[in-house]
Amino acid sequence: MKKILITGGAGFIGSHLTKRLLDEGCFVICLDNLYTGSKANIEPFMANDNFKFVKADVIEPYYFEVDEIFNLACPASPPHYQKDPVFTFKTSVFGILNALELAKKTGAVLLQASTSEVYGDAKKYPQRESYFGNVNPNGIRACYDEGKRAAETLICDYIRKYGVNAKIARIFNTYGPNMDKNDGRVVSNFIVQALSGDDITIYGDGRQTRSFCYVEDLIEGLILLMKSDFSGPFNLGNPEEFTICEFADYVLGLTGSKSKKVFMPLPDDDPVRRKPDISYASLKLGYAPKVCVRDGLVKTVEYFKKELLG
Ligand code: UDP
Repeated sequence: MKKILITGGAGFIGSHLTKRLLDEGCFVICLDNLYTGSKANIEPFMANDNFKFVKADVIEPYYFEVDEIFNLACPASPPHYQKDPVFTFKTSVFGILNALELAKKTGAVLLQASTSEVYGDAKKYPQRESYFGNVNPNGIRACYDEGKRAAETLICDYIRKYGVNAKIARIFNTYGPNMDKNDGRVVSNFIVQALSGDDITIYGDGRQTRSFCYVEDLIEGLILLMKSDFSGPFNLGNPEEFTICEFADYVLGLTGSKSKKVFMPLPDDDPVRRKPDISYASLKLGYAPKVCVRDGLVKTVEYFKKELLG
């Protein structure tokens, strides 16, 4: 039986990955400090003998005999990662160092959850893996962007210097059930606002774009990458692109909400146009997202309806 460590396993993406790997018959250790992850996300697995939860922080070294490591631990929504930027930076950098050391000692294969944020406010469109990005190293997003960039640097050096088997997935905006309703990201904010009849808060003029991937498609990409012989980096996401204003209208239409759109200041360094070029992942991994934004949002709206009632 394969033993797998998921750091950040109680988070939004981590909990979906845990479910998928348990369904495949793996033993899963979920290591999480519950800073942004939640016990509710892993509650369904607690009675499973193939699941173990360890409350710990990836900033501190850890040791488990495992075959694979998915390093997902890090606050990922802008309000959350900006709340304690020094902690965010440490989580990225010390977190990957500890994961790489474990991979080096045990021979485990390591997959890093990197991010489209490594491209910063990209000047190339759509973003390809060969683009080096446009990141403000001093700005409010830098704790996350530069932390994740530094993590990629360490991974590549551990591969070159120690022959560690490690892989990099650059994850673009992902949404779905198990998102925290207070997480502050655009998908959760707009759905919760629409369902509650509150104003829809558009930052800036709403002409900036994002491309949205349903969580199950992302999980498929992570599994394909882990099973492959490639290190990447690979973009994983869905190129279905919306301006933020279009997205607000889409959510309003889907929920039948009468909420008003209100315009608020744009946060510093907010990327203007983001869309993944996924041709490399498609060619090498056979990655192809299947869930269109409409279908994914219907499931996500259902989830938030229950969350708001509960
Ligand atoms: N955004 C918005 N209203 C919100 C939350 C976010 O207009 O209530 C915008 C935000 O400024 C950004 C985009 O939506 O341009 C995506 O933001 P999110 O926080 O989801 O993630 P990001 O892609 O910026 O990391």
